[in-house]
Amino acid sequence: MLKRILIVEDEPAIRDMVAFALRKGGHEPVHAADGREAAAAIAEKVPDLILLDWMLPGASGLELARRWRREELTRDVPIIMLTARGEENDRVSGLESGIDDYVVKPFSARELLARIKAVLRRSRDDSDDGSVSAGALRIDCAAHRVYAGGQALHVGPTEYRLLHFFMTHADRVYTRAQLLDHIWGGNVYVEERTVDVHIRRLRKALEPTGLQDMVQTVRGTGYRFSQSP
Ligand code: CA
Repeated sequence: MLKRILIVEDEPAIRDMVAFALRKGGHEPVHAADGREAAAAIAEKVPDLILLDWMLPGASGLELARRWRREELTRDVPIIMLTARGEENDRVSGLESGIDDYVVKPFSARELLARIKAVLRRSRDDSDDGSVSAGALRIDCAAHRVYAGGQALHVGPTEYRLLHFFMTHADRVYTRAQLLDHIWGGNVYVEERTVDVHIRRLRKALEPTGLQDMVQTVRGTGYRFSQSP
């Protein structure tokens, strides 16, 4: 399984080391030194995964990750952030931006390849047969339908998108603003309490299945989807 992996890193030594490791791991590395080069590489062909340095000239890795999460083309491309020691505290904001994993510099080729493998496996589980599952819940993406234990559920279009987002981003807390950004898109002006309305509707839709508690309120922060209470 040859994967096209985009490395966005401004330090040539690290870029070369990573590219060498990727080739050894059977992948096809593509280089970019900053956001502009990365955009050009993505336009040419969307990569299977992006390795993104945190500190870059121009737009930071975090800004790029946020941008890519919003754009249709790159929305589902897994991102692994390469951070320097000391930037660990910023991880929370990274996770909120939809980054899939972190590797702290200096890292070994073996560690990097293991993380890549794990992240790719996770994203493949979601898309192999065009369905996403969490416990008894399953979304058939091609048919745009939600099932609970084989029983089809009636879910409105916004609740569907909300549930799909939650199931593909389980066990993470999202603020209302972030959910608006992801589900409604950054361009639309919608009030934050709109999110609460749709969360209520989604819970109601899940009620007959007894799975409504998977949509959890995190007091003072926002919402989380989780199979554990
Ligand atoms: Ca850098």
